[in-house]
This record gives sequence, structure tokens and C-alpha cells, in this order.
Amino acid sequence: ATPTALMVGVGRAGQLGIVIKGPSALESSGVIDTVVLDKTGTLTTGAMSLVGVHPVGGADRDEVLRLAGAVEQHSEHPIGRAVVAAALEALGRDTGPTPGGAVALPAAEGFTALSGLGAEAVVEGRRALVGNRALLAERGVTVDPATASRLDQAEAAGRTAVLLAVDGAAAGVLELADTVKPSAPEAVARLRALGLRTVLLTGDSRRVAEQVGRELGTDEVVAEVLPADKAAHVERLQAQGRRVAMVGDGINDAAALATADLGMAVVSGTDLAMKSADMILVRSHLGVVADAVSLSRRTLATIR
Ligand code: ADP
Ligand code: MG
Repeated sequence: ATPTALMVGVGRAGQLGIVIKGPSALESSGVIDTVVLDKTGTLTTGAMSLVGVHPVGGADRDEVLRLAGAVEQHSEHPIGRAVVAAALEALGRDTGPTPGGAVALPAAEGFTALSGLGAEAVVEGRRALVGNRALLAERGVTVDPATASRLDQAEAAGRTAVLLAVDGAAAGVLELADTVKPSAPEAVARLRALGLRTVLLTGDSRRVAEQVGRELGTDEVVAEVLPADKAAHVERLQAQGRRVAMVGDGINDAAALATADLGMAVVSGTDLAMKSADMILVRSHLGVVADAVSLSRRTLATIR
């Protein structure tokens, strides 16, 4: 390899908003044939908003928000943030700020984030759980047919739906909306035009994932993947002889970024993403992924 050509490539990458950790990243990105894209926070803005609350089994709307908000106040997940924002707004509307100034959510004891599933805590002596169907099933919480159909309807509309359970009984359905980044459809089209296979990888439900996949035109959709299994899925593709680039934000995909032949972190992501990746994409326009691949191919062509 000609070091000069690689150095020119690294410099040109900088101008395009691509920070390359080492010249070898440029070499590996020139030969990849598959791009795995994380959904939440990478293809979507990740700034979720709560768009529906459906109480179940006698709870009222504010009670659902209060308990779910209490659990999620310690969560860093976009779902948790959206639930807390909505709970604070609803409670503030009813009671106004407390003397201390801020609207108070009840305290949550023993908060635990359950990666790819949800979160739990004890609130006012009750065990509260917020998360997906898999989490409730795992904890033996039954979901009646009417509630299950609520979830189905929300997901059919492309929304992420999670459940609140209190002391082992379903208490509400929370519906969240996320937005596909405006640059995502064009970015996926460009990757495909470069002959790359595009795979959407997410922990979200199959129906929501397929909706987003259709909107973006990805070749493949892999849904309901637990965070720990995202890296294993990358390995599976590699075992099939694929050279894989993983694009993610580090929320639940840092291991996959590190496992991939080329890990690309979007800059809005976490510090962990920056550590695990080979390239950091500083431009918010997702077209930067295709730019990186094109540039690497050109650089390698110069060398060979
Ligand atoms: P993605 O792969 O799209 O980034 P995640 O792996 O972060 O998604 O989450 C997968 C699913 O786990 C979510 O769609 C949701 O059902 C559930 N989940 C994760 N964290 C939480 C939370 N704090 N509150 C409620 N549900 C959660
Ligand atoms: Mg994510």
C-alpha cells in the first residue's frame, strides 16, 4: 500500500465529515459489501414522542403516566425520555409545580434498565414494569386480547408500543412515534446503487421495523434482536462470507460496531459508539455513509 494515497484519503475524508481512526479503516471500507444500519437513533431521529396512552384494567390515564414516568425517570433510552416528558406535562397540567419548583414524579427504588426489553422499579411500594411484550411474557404478565389488539394497531401504524404492568398485571399501553431522518431514504438508495446489501437491524417489533424498511427500501429487515444479539447477527453475516459495515449510535449496538469489519458511529451517538467505531460520521446527513464507501474505493483503486 502507498501510505501517501491513504493519507490523502484520510484528509479528503475529513473534508467530507468522516473522521477515520486509522488508515486501515479506509482499506476495510473499500471492500465491504454489506451495510447493517441500526434503526432507532441512526435511521430515525431517536427523539421519540408519546402519542397515545391507553389505560388497561381500571387505571386512569394520569395514573399510567405517573407510574411509567416514575420508572423511566432514570432511563437514558429515547422511549424513557419521551414517557417522562409526557408524564411531567400531564402532571404539571393537573397539579401545577410543587413548592420546590419542579413537577415531581414519585420516587423509584431499585431502577433497572433491561436492555432491549424495558425497565423496572418499585414505585410507592408497587413493582412497576415498562417494556415490550417479550418482557411481560418473561415476567408472566398476561396481556388480554383487547390489549394485544391495541398493541397490534399501534404497530400497524408504524408506532412503537410498550406496556406498563403494575404488580404483575397489565395497566396500560403507551404508544410512541419516532421519525425517519429526512436524509435516510436517499442514503439507503445510494448504498444500494453502490452495490451494497442494506440490512436494517433493530430491537423494535417486526411490524414497526418492516414499516421503516419499506419506507427506506432496505434489502433486509432484522427485528426483535436483543442488544446482546446484534453483534452475533453481524458475525452470522461474516460467517456467510460478507464484509460488513455497521452504522450505529452506540445505544445497544456498541458491540456490533466493534465486531463489524468497519464500525461507523453517527456523531449524535454515545461516547461508547465513538470508542467502538473505526470511523466517526460527523455530518448529520446519512449520505455520509455512501461518501465514505466511495472515497475508500477510490483510494484503494489509486493504491492498486
Ligand atoms: P433499537 O434496536 O431500535 O435501537 P432498542 O434495542 O433500544 O431498539 O429497544 C428495543 C425495544 O425494547 C424497544 O422497542 C422497546 O420495546 C423496549 N425497550 C427498551 N428500553 C425501554 C425502556 N426504557 N422503556 C420501555 N421499553 C423499552
Ligand atoms: Mg439505537
